[in-house]
Amino acid sequence: MAIIPYFLIQYVRKETKKYKLIKNFDLSNVNSVIIPPVLQQKYDAVDFSKIQPLFRNIVKRFVRIIEEKIPKDFLTNFYNNINETNISFYPMIKASERYYSHNNQIKLSMFYLTRSLNHELLHLASRSIRGKEGDNNYSVNSGFHHANYYSDIGRGINEGYTVCLDRKYFSKFHMETRTYNLLATIAKLTETIVGEKKDGITLF
Ligand SMILES: [Zn+2]
Repeated sequence: MAIIPYFLIQYVRKETKKYKLIKNFDLSNVNSVIIPPVLQQKYDAVDFSKIQPLFRNIVKRFVRIIEEKIPKDFLTNFYNNINETNISFYPMIKASERYYSHNNQIKLSMFYLTRSLNHELLHLASRSIRGKEGDNNYSVNSGFHHANYYSDIGRGINEGYTVCLDRKYFSKFHMETRTYNLLATIAKLTETIVGEKKDGITLF
């Protein structure tokens, strides 16, 4: 009977060795969880004249709420990204939306403009890049999603927590989405286990 737990422990040990929490950002051949470096603050406010008029009012409301709820110290990523993003629609036939974190572009669905823009702006708010594309230490981080040449982790929990934040701050402005519902439930439970609600947004 004891043989099964033994093999299980060995297997878990082997698997967990593939991941290593690093802070020094040296090159590594293992899959790595990256803690983003200190960010350069390029902007400390949003220049709304850079946002296309069609999207400007939704972005303004998003900024007002986010600045009310989140201390300015945590908004460095957001200011850097919002002032350099490009927001546009997918062609009519595509009822989809996405934030492309590697190049800071938002593509929206015409059918769910408000809902999809709030969601994608939350992705944008938490995005940072480390290193330069082509370098071994290059990584793209957005919320709890971290991707580099060796690994791509946290995509699901990131979508789940983004939905939780969207529901918390913006649900009165648009219909609720059931997309990522299961992931949102897992993220919510994780937040409860972590204990301090403010820690979730800080880590994000
Ligand atoms: Zn998303």
